[in-house]
This record gives sequence, C-alpha cells and structure tokens, in this order.
Amino acid sequence: MSKVGHSNSQDFPIEESALIQQAAETHHLTFSEITKLLADDACEELLCAAADAVRKQFVGDGVHLRGLIEFSNICRQDCMYCGLRRDNGKIERYRLTADEIVMLAEKAKGYGYRTVVLQSGEDAHFTAERLAEIVRRIHALDLAITLSVGERPREDYAAWRAAGADRYLLRIETTNAELYERLDPGMSYENRVRCLRDLRELGYEVGTGSLIGLPGQTVEMLARDILFYQEIDADMIGIGPLIPNGDTPLGKAAPGDWHLTRRMVALLRLLLPEANIPATTAMETMMPRGRELILASGANVVMPNVTEGDYRRKYALYPGKICVADTPADCRACMGGRIATMGRFVATDKGFRKHQPRKR
Ligand code: SAH
Repeated sequence: MSKVGHSNSQDFPIEESALIQQAAETHHLTFSEITKLLADDACEELLCAAADAVRKQFVGDGVHLRGLIEFSNICRQDCMYCGLRRDNGKIERYRLTADEIVMLAEKAKGYGYRTVVLQSGEDAHFTAERLAEIVRRIHALDLAITLSVGERPREDYAAWRAAGADRYLLRIETTNAELYERLDPGMSYENRVRCLRDLRELGYEVGTGSLIGLPGQTVEMLARDILFYQEIDADMIGIGPLIPNGDTPLGKAAPGDWHLTRRMVALLRLLLPEANIPATTAMETMMPRGRELILASGANVVMPNVTEGDYRRKYALYPGKICVADTPADCRACMGGRIATMGRFVATDKGFRKHQPRKR
C-alpha cells in the first residue's frame, strides 16, 4: 500500500478520500480498493458520511420498518455460531401455530407495518404446503411478505412465491466456500448459491448478507462478499457482527468488530446505491443506539420484532438480544420516535427496492 497520499487537515490520507469520492460517484471500486477502505479505520467517518449522502440521494429519508415474526426456533442445521443449531440442547424450542403466526401479522398491520418478515430455523414441520397456506392468509391482509426459513428445494420457493411471498432473506454468511463449509457443517456453499439463484429466477426480491468476524475471515474475504453482492445485484443486504453464543462451538470466539461492520455497511451503500440495507439488531446488541448510527451510515431499513411474549427470548441466535421484554407496540413506538429524532421518517409504502437510472 503506497503512502504517497500524505495526511490532509482532517487526518485521513488523501488517496483514500479520493477513493471514497470515486465510490460515491461511480459506485465502482476494485477488489484492492474495497479491501483498503475496509481495513482503514481512519477513514471511517468520511466513508460513512459519503454513504449517508448516497443513501439520501438514491433511497431518500424514509426508513422502512419490517415487522419480524420469529415463528420457530427448531432447526435441522448445525451452524457453529448459531444458538438455534440442532445440537444445542440448552435452548427451549418452540413453534408457533399457523393461527398464531397469522395473528401476529394482523397485529403488525394494526401497528402500521406494511410488510412482515417470517423467520425461523430450518423447521421441517413447515412443509411447502403448510407455509404456502400461511403466506396466502397473510398476503390476503395486503402485507408484503419476506420469508427467511433457510435452504429449500426450488419447488418450495416456487410454491411460496405463487402463494404471494415477495422477498426472501438468505445470508450467504461468507463467500469463502471453505470457511462457509467449515462453519456450517453438512451444508454446501454451492447449494446456498443455488438457493439465491433460484429465488432470483422465481422473481423474489433477494436479500442476503454477511456475518462479520467469523474465525478465519479476512477483510479480503469481505471485499469478495461485496463484489458478490454487486454481481448478483442483491436487493437487500443484511450485515451483522458475530456475537459469540456460549451454547455453541464458537462460544469463546472473539466478537465481530462493530466498526468494521459499520464500514462494510457504508461501502455497500456506496457500491449498491439502490439496495435496501437494514440496521441490524446485532449492531445494537453490541452498542447502545447502534441502529441509529448505522441508519446514519448508509442503512435505510429496520426490522423491529413483532414476536410476542417469551418467544422473543427463546429465539436466541446470540446472547444479549435487545428488547426481549418489550411488546411489539413498544418497539414500533420506540423506533418511530428514534427515526423522527434523526430527521428521517417512517416510510409508508411496502418498501420494494427502488430502481433508478444509474449515474455513470
Ligand atoms: N434459518 C434461516 C435464518 C437464520 S437466523 C436462514 O438460514 O437464513 C438469521 C441470521 O442470524 C443468520 O443468517 C446469521 O447470519 C445470524 N446469526 C446466527 N447466529 C449469530 C450469532 N451468534 N451472532 C450474530 N448473528 C448470528
């Protein structure tokens, strides 16, 4: 890395500020340029300010709230980092009934949400037909529906799409196939990519994303993640730090770096300017007001929890999850207030990805 840039009065190398400006204007950087900005904490504020401006230019000041329904924590997979993993005997398992799920969606609509996210472990109880029926019932409420239930055959995705599902969230977690397969034993990177491709072909808006701070993950791998998201033209990208869960094999791993995660979000906004990018719950678990900070660094989506009662606590991907004692009404009111304080507003449309002509 050349240091010819010297420092300017704001104490970051000129070379890097030029890169940030280039990214903000052309939405293009090379692998080594992305790596350089990711690795550089000195340029973080400048990077995030540029991302905030691009966010405003491309997706505006509206913050999309998506009501998150965590409907089952039963999972057939055994991901090394995740509290829902099959081999975790300490978690209390639960599964909501179809009526309970639809009731939560109805309530979410009552709080003003236009869209719900149905998320669960990979729970085989929810056959394609069972989940399709739930999707049909929620679709009839005129809510946009995002599913996040893991890897399934293409036919299942097709059935849910036909039933009215609009979007699907499936984080790639890492685009390093070797790391992916080490941390998600029994799963194949190839199949994860196949799922994303199928979802795209079926007409879903495709959400994906990375876990930051996986043991062995490097900034180069994160730069590859960003290029992958550009290549597949991801509609939504959720980025969160690893929060070690003591009931998993990664319980003693170092937590993901909050600031690196923030730089990742900012770079994604610069390089995929139209994407929907959430300020994730994990960012606030690690730092108070973390979601506001991320909303001011390029993000434009928040997914407040609309799960009720003890199920919130039991859906324990990681420890220290925020708002487990709050009600869905509390979360809606709290987020609405916080967004208004930032000079932003809660968007009232269904929050589909905006397509605008690119400035070249
Ligand atoms: N079964 C669904 C939903 C998984 S849980 C699926 O496969 O997509 C949603 C996300 O939580 C995961 O994609 C993962 O990135 C994140 N997650 C899991 N364990 C975590 C941990 N310990 N710290 C931070 N995020 C975690």
